Amino acid sequence: MSNAIPKIVILGAGYAGILTAQKLQKQLNFNEAEVTLVNKHDYHYITTHLHMPAAGTDHPENAKVKISSIIDEMKIKFIKSTVHSISVEDKKIQLDNETLHYDYLVFGLGGEPETFGIPGMKENAFMIRSINSVNLICEHIEYQFAKYKNDETQKDRITFVVGGAGFTGIEFVGELADRLPELCERFNVDPKEVKIYNVEAAPTALPGFDPELVEYGMEVLKNKGVEFKIGVAIKECKEDGVIIGENEEIKARTIVWTGGIRGNHMLEEAGIEVMRGRVKVDEYLRVPGHENIFVIGDNALIFNDEGRPFPPTAQIAMQQGVNCASNIISTIGNHSLTTFKPEIKGTVASLGKGEAIGIVGKKKLKGWSAAQMKKVIDNRYLFIIGGVPLVVKKGRFFG
Ligand code: FAD
Ligand code: NAD
Repeated sequence: MSNAIPKIVILGAGYAGILTAQKLQKQLNFNEAEVTLVNKHDYHYITTHLHMPAAGTDHPENAKVKISSIIDEMKIKFIKSTVHSISVEDKKIQLDNETLHYDYLVFGLGGEPETFGIPGMKENAFMIRSINSVNLICEHIEYQFAKYKNDETQKDRITFVVGGAGFTGIEFVGELADRLPELCERFNVDPKEVKIYNVEAAPTALPGFDPELVEYGMEVLKNKGVEFKIGVAIKECKEDGVIIGENEEIKARTIVWTGGIRGNHMLEEAGIEVMRGRVKVDEYLRVPGHENIFVIGDNALIFNDEGRPFPPTAQIAMQQGVNCASNIISTIGNHSLTTFKPEIKGTVASLGKGEAIGIVGKKKLKGWSAAQMKKVIDNRYLFIIGGVPLVVKKGRFFG
């Protein structure tokens, strides 16, 4: 490293990247480091809300926050560009039209859908990943209703398959079921004709979560019209349906894959050791053997005391952003680093309007109280990144 001030490059303005940038801007003076944040869009999206605009129960604008409104551009240089590759040897990042050099790299580009090599899944299924991807899902659903009205023999147009009943799948089918009455009325379709299947390979929905809450959640969703196929794997995804279990076919023009995520392909391409795309980072969130590279958020693989990996969540991504910023500052100042230990406050999953399930601390919540808790958690996040003005602008308070 030369005598020039260190260059810190943060890739991704998701939960992990935004928290890193905000913490660095608070704690570093202008002359201590040059900080650059790169993101594909000029907005941050609230990934934890994306199941709503995907189903059309909320406007996509509500899940978008202008990056310039939550960072101080006097202290953080923001570049709107797509990252294409990283070169660990040369400490370089290739963007659309420029190459960036870094001394410290923070990799926070989020995960990618894990399709487990299921034939046709990448090509034919929709994924809940970004504002653009959920706009596509929402438009596609409306189009299927319109097409069905022009040929009512095409039942596959109003059959919806959601692959995977993890938290994303469960939250999405809850919203989709809530949207149906409006769509059925608008397109004059009998609600009894519409089918929503949630297919899960494991012996239960939400594997690993509290069984009593899972049972409650499934009852709520069944009452809204969701049909579960549990303990049955999707084997193939076609343009007009899925093959599940022992060769059963469900004809459907809308397949939404919520079967899990893996790490970003760029890490492996850079020669970094990964497990399903994620990096087993050290206790300071650094890549082993590359102490100037921090991997945070969905790309960081970290383990609990029993040696089991923590699930990738926004909750952990945010805490990693804060820890990573403070460890970069400590590294620059030659101070000792702080071990990252996630503090799990709980998990709350929405089941659609006015319904949710969750555990906060040691307390189990279900129904209306859980739904209110979900709003508190969402609003708290807005407060952390944008203070009261953002809560007032984008917060969710009713329903
Ligand atoms: P992300 O939030 O995915 O951010 C990555 C950023 O990088 C994005 O801004 C993206 O545009 C940008 N980017 C990606 N590729 C490039 C590129 N090549 N070039 C430039 N920029 C790029 N977790 C919870 O804890 N609680 C919840 O309630 C919850 N609900 C969820 C609901 C849904 C529907 C989904 C899908 C996930 C939910 N999660 C939840 C999980 C949580 O959203 C993720 O763990 C979290 O978003 C990970 O944060 P991240 O910063 O690693 O990545
Ligand atoms: P996940 O990995 O948690 O769940 C994917 C589900 O798909 C699993 O239950 C898996 O058994 C199933 N599956 C895999 N292959 C299948 C196949 N071939 N056929 C049928 N089912 C199959 O993924 P997710 O739900 O997208 O969640 C990703 C991360 O985001 C997790 O860490 C989760 O905790 C987090 N998240 C949290 C919340 C919340 O806290 N409210 C909401 C959404 C997501």
